[in-house]
Amino acid sequence: MPYYNQNTTPLWRSVKEKCDNNNLWLNVFSELIGGDMAQLISNFDPSKHARTKCACPVHGGKTGKAYGLLKHSAQSGASVCNSCGIFSNGFDTIMAWTNWEFKTAVKYIAATKTVGLIQSNSTYLGPTTPKPEWKAPEIDWEAEKRKHERNLKYFEEAYSLESNQGQLAWHYFGNRGIDLSKIAPKNIKRFFGDVKLHTKMPYWAYVWDHDTGKLAEKPVMIAKLPALLSWIRNPKGQKSNLHVTYLTEDGFKATDFLWQQWCDVSDIDPDEIPASFRKKFAPDTKKIAIFH
Ligand SMILES: [Zn+2]
Repeated sequence: MPYYNQNTTPLWRSVKEKCDNNNLWLNVFSELIGGDMAQLISNFDPSKHARTKCACPVHGGKTGKAYGLLKHSAQSGASVCNSCGIFSNGFDTIMAWTNWEFKTAVKYIAATKTVGLIQSNSTYLGPTTPKPEWKAPEIDWEAEKRKHERNLKYFEEAYSLESNQGQLAWHYFGNRGIDLSKIAPKNIKRFFGDVKLHTKMPYWAYVWDHDTGKLAEKPVMIAKLPALLSWIRNPKGQKSNLHVTYLTEDGFKATDFLWQQWCDVSDIDPDEIPASFRKKFAPDTKKIAIFH
């Protein structure tokens, strides 16, 4: 049986307490990470932290502006990428930049001049640079085909806007100031052929994983809602994708409902997080994704 001395504070905890309590994380980053991180730190201004960005050390990103520090980074060590999510503490940030395992990261941090909790016998060789530019993945045609088949199925299940069940769509358009009865007769047939109302459209989303401090890897179904389905056609006139607008029972976009639902499933209190978080991570009716 292993022997545990409960009175000994683990090294990582001593490191974390020292850095958190003395706002040392940016100093630690300066010692261990070079490249773009050095630039971020030298330009760091807590009130305008969102203005300075660089390529993400994990996934790169096309614009070179996916990643940045947060208002409280000196105290928490946290950083954020708009696709990878939050690196919620200094260890995660360091690990994102260096690829070190947690234990290794703890040792290197503890051995910095800033922290000085252990003697440095470091073999660390210098600043780490971000990974190379992200490249678009190859299109998985099989997956595209399955998606198209699902889209066809959902559209098949949905109701015509001319049916009783389809009336919610009229409310939705009415709420937006659009009177469907004014569509020109020559267009109406095509419109009703391409737009229908699904009464229980599943909504899949990546919820927050508190263990990793990121969005979960697999999406889960968080709601079944009425939804307006409209075919998007390619220039040849073929059905290429299905646009889905999730609706409330009274004919408005269900954005707020889905956000609430997402927070419930993610175990997040929406009042305790900044609006910018919602902007980056919330499910949104504009970003339609139908998963399985
Ligand atoms: Zn990233």
